[in-house]
Formats: sequence, structure tokens, C-alpha cells
Amino acid sequence: MIVVKIGGAQGVNLDAVCRDMAGLVHEGRPVVVVHGGSAETNEISTMLGVPPRFVTSASGFTSRYTDRQTLEIFAMVTSGKINTLLVERLQKFGVNAFGLSGVDGRVMVAKRKEAIRIVENGRQRMLRDDYTGKIETVNGGLLRLLLDAGLTPVVAPLAISPEGDALNVDADRAAAMVAGAVGAEQLVILTNVPGLMRSFPDESTLIAHLPKDGLEQALGFAEGRMKKKVLGASEALGLGVSKIIFADGRIEQPLVGALAGNGTVIS
Ligand code: ADP
Repeated sequence: MIVVKIGGAQGVNLDAVCRDMAGLVHEGRPVVVVHGGSAETNEISTMLGVPPRFVTSASGFTSRYTDRQTLEIFAMVTSGKINTLLVERLQKFGVNAFGLSGVDGRVMVAKRKEAIRIVENGRQRMLRDDYTGKIETVNGGLLRLLLDAGLTPVVAPLAISPEGDALNVDADRAAAMVAGAVGAEQLVILTNVPGLMRSFPDESTLIAHLPKDGLEQALGFAEGRMKKKVLGASEALGLGVSKIIFADGRIEQPLVGALAGNGTVIS
């Protein structure tokens, strides 16, 4: 079982990813796809006159500020456009893909961050009315039901809270939780860089292999949103996923290459 996370950043070669995925599925290897949507949400929300706002938490993580209006745009772009077009593309390659978000059938349940402590102009303040969440449970049984029916689940990064609110969740960490819940051996995170670099953006500092106990240190040289991928990798290992691979999604045969050891392998 393989979980593939397709980055939201521009540049990922979706045809190549879907072609590789079709190869795996036709060999009988079950695949679950989780995707992001941040870059496109930024574009479309700007077009709609609601430019994105990013906030930095007191612990140094950057995330999208998601008020109700932003949440609705996020759902429209990720669950609507990106998910449907990814399913369409997989269908073109002969994969019977099935699109859903974590809201459907409560596949991903997350705790809403009622208030987040952010740092703005060097000062801390609390932000409320935020529709982001941290995933607590993934219904792996439901995803396996789809797989057993010959379908390939394609999951958009929205979850539902116990109170019934749809929430924006981080796609890397969602992929990690999904990988744990379905008992995947490998989690491949495809993005727009060749892997984790010790000194970003110097590609000659690409880390080929990162042992489990090097993750803490890796958080130090991962900047911005790369931090979330490292956190996700750590969570996935904790959930029993034996190998996490950060690989370049822009190239030909991105998935085949990643499974052959390209990129950063964390195990
Ligand atoms: P995606 O949309 O694919 O999830 P992100 O934009 O969230 O991707 O994260 C990938 C980005 O992380 C890269 O494009 C790069 O700019 C940035 N990055 C920060 N630190 C590093 C690092 N140490 N190694 C590689 N990439 C890094």
C-alpha cells in the first residue's frame, strides 16, 4: 500500500504522476492519493477579491488564516476543482479514481483550533474565527472499502470537527495520518523540489537518506512549509509507516523514481 501526496505548489507534472500511479494500480498495488491546493487557492481567492492571509504561530509555523469565507473558497478550489480534475486525469489513464474530502463520511475528523496564538510585527495576539484543524482520526476502514471495490481514493485536505464544522487541514499531515490509518508501508510526498536540502536552495545539499533520529535536526533546516512535511514524516513513522519519501514531482516518472530511491528517503 502506498499513499501519494501531491503538492499544491505549481509545477508538479500531473500527467507524469497519474501515469505512474496507473502503472502501480494496474500492477495491483493499492494507492491512496492526498492532495493540497494552497497555490491555486491563493490565485483564485485573489481573483475573487479575497487575497490570502498567512499567519505565523508562536511556535514558528506558517499557515493560512482561514475565516469562514476563506474556508468556503478553499473547499471550492480543493474539493471542487483540484480534486475533480485529478480524478478526471486518473480516469483518463484508466484508473477508477474516487474523489472525496475528509468531510465525506467523516473520513478525517479534526479538532478545530479555536484560537491560535500568532506573532504579528513581533507581538503575540490571539486569533479566533479560524477554520483550521488538526486531524485526530482517519477512517481507514472507509478508505479500504473503496480500495476493495477497485476504486482509488483521492482525498482533498478538508476534515470535519466533532461539532460538524468543515475545516482546512494541512495536506502533508493529512497524508501522514491517512498513511497510518490505511496501514501503508510507504508515503511519497511529491513537491516542487528534489527533496529536503540541508541548506535550501542549494541542491547539492540534498539529503538522500534521513534516519528517524535525524528528524528533529531536520526541522531546523526545513524552512516555511517544508517544516510541515518533516512533521508529517515524523507522524507517519510514529503511526507505523516504514518509509517516507520526499521527491520531485516536476520530472518524468516522478513516482517510479521516488520508489526507486530518488529524493529524500526517511526511514
Ligand atoms: P507543496 O505545495 O508541494 O506541499 P510547499 O510549498 O508546501 O510544497 O513546500 C515545498 C517548499 O519548501 C519548496 O518549494 C521550498 O521552497 C521550501 N523549502 C524550505 N526549506 C526547504 C529545505 N530545507 N529543503 C527543500 N525545500 C525547502
